[in-house]
Amino acid sequence: MPGKVRSHISQNEALLFEMSSPGKRGYQLPELDVPAVDPVEALGAENTRAEITDFPEVSEVEVIRHFTRLSTWNYGIDLGLFPLGSCTMKYNPRVNEQVARIEGLAWAHPYQPESLSQGAMEIIARLEAALAEITGMDAVTLEPAAGAHGELTGVLLIRALLESRGNPRKKIIIPDSAHGTNPATAAMAGYQVANLKSTAEGLVDVEALAAMVDEEVAGLMVTNPNTLGVFEQEIRKICEILHAKGALVYMDGANMNALVGISRPGDFGIDVMHLNLHKTFSTPHGGGGPGAGAVAVKKHLEPFLPYPRLKRHGESWSWDYDRPLSIGKVRAFYGNFGVLVRALAYILAHGGPGLRKATLDALLNANYVRKGLEDYYDLPYPGPTMHECVFSDARQAKRGVRTMDIAKRLIDYGFHPYTVAFPLIVPGALMIEPTETESKAELDAFIEAMRAIAREVETDPELVRTAPHETRISRVDEVSAARRPVVRWKRASAASKAAD
Ligand SMILES: *Cc1c(COP(=O)(O)O)cnc(C)c1O
Repeated sequence: MPGKVRSHISQNEALLFEMSSPGKRGYQLPELDVPAVDPVEALGAENTRAEITDFPEVSEVEVIRHFTRLSTWNYGIDLGLFPLGSCTMKYNPRVNEQVARIEGLAWAHPYQPESLSQGAMEIIARLEAALAEITGMDAVTLEPAAGAHGELTGVLLIRALLESRGNPRKKIIIPDSAHGTNPATAAMAGYQVANLKSTAEGLVDVEALAAMVDEEVAGLMVTNPNTLGVFEQEIRKICEILHAKGALVYMDGANMNALVGISRPGDFGIDVMHLNLHKTFSTPHGGGGPGAGAVAVKKHLEPFLPYPRLKRHGESWSWDYDRPLSIGKVRAFYGNFGVLVRALAYILAHGGPGLRKATLDALLNANYVRKGLEDYYDLPYPGPTMHECVFSDARQAKRGVRTMDIAKRLIDYGFHPYTVAFPLIVPGALMIEPTETESKAELDAFIEAMRAIAREVETDPELVRTAPHETRISRVDEVSAARRPVVRWKRASAASKAAD
């Protein structure tokens, strides 16, 4: 921005390599008081480098300020609304963090003897019981590390059950509105994917489904509410169709934020499902983990669950490894324990009525956003929706502005973008999930920003097409960044940068 004065706080941060000056260091060590050892002799030539060229030489304060400045450039849920659809980016109450940091829990070691781990085992047992009650299922494993991992575990359970009946079968049916992890999971578990087209309302086409299900079909993977935020009205019938042919129904429960306390998958016929504890049950996520993909099953799948399983002996717990039908371990130890502690703390802090209220608020907020924007953006599948709403860029595309452009412009207004171009059945999708933790004022500010962008598209589409404008870095070439990433710093590149 020509003419604009940049202070040392808002300037573009240089790389540590660019700050380097020879001889600077960020540590001071006392005089060596033992004989010096040659590193090659001590470690072996294969473990040492002859030289490290251009390694940055900087002082302690330069390192501290560099990383502190960078840390303030992040956008996170603690800064403002994070409306990514399908992700349930809700605010995570600090009390859950506090509980997960209790010394005995944070420092518990999985190799501790069972006699010293009874409290941790009790937490796992109580969380399993709470999630079974919330989902209406019979048993829960907390081993899987994330949603997609839960899917894989669940489909392997289906395979194991069918195998025990003599034939694992060949195909899994997946609706075209599904998350990309669903077909990937089915393929990893050795199944062919049969694609099922949605109806004009965005629902499973029950007649088409009935025509597809035969003795080759192992199961259906269904997301409910689906990725359009619409509840599958015929879910009972859908389950009956599969069950009548000896097939099973897997539910992707990533959208349970719309159901908790209101409707239970176990009651509408689901055989196996996963929950994203890091979405619905308030573990911070988005930075790559850790997460937890709890898997809940009906009785007929229980013998196949990953081992070990908790076993009660009078007053105490033990781990039961003697599970001959188990699919085996899916993860080291017992899952991401810290995430499990947060989830139980969240459930207990809310209680039944509190969880139900959170769900109702999530539905109300999503419908409030939908109402606020439906005069400005195309809504291909009419509401009411559940916890999220999906618009398309059809109106703006006529002026050459696509969903990615609108998302980038939203950054200028101080919001994290919504989910861009997913679900795939909506071309140019804008998928928005506000969650229950947002106030009316925050939602109003978001709606106003989205309306302002829609008006800008009418008056100055180029402004939106070239956004963002207020950020340190303007629009980056994402394709080149993905295809030809430059991951190694070279002094030559810094020199050429200084020249241009
Ligand atoms: C997030 C999500 C997943 C995958 O969960 P991860 O924890 O990211 O592996 C699967 N399905 C749906 C619908 C999701 O939203």
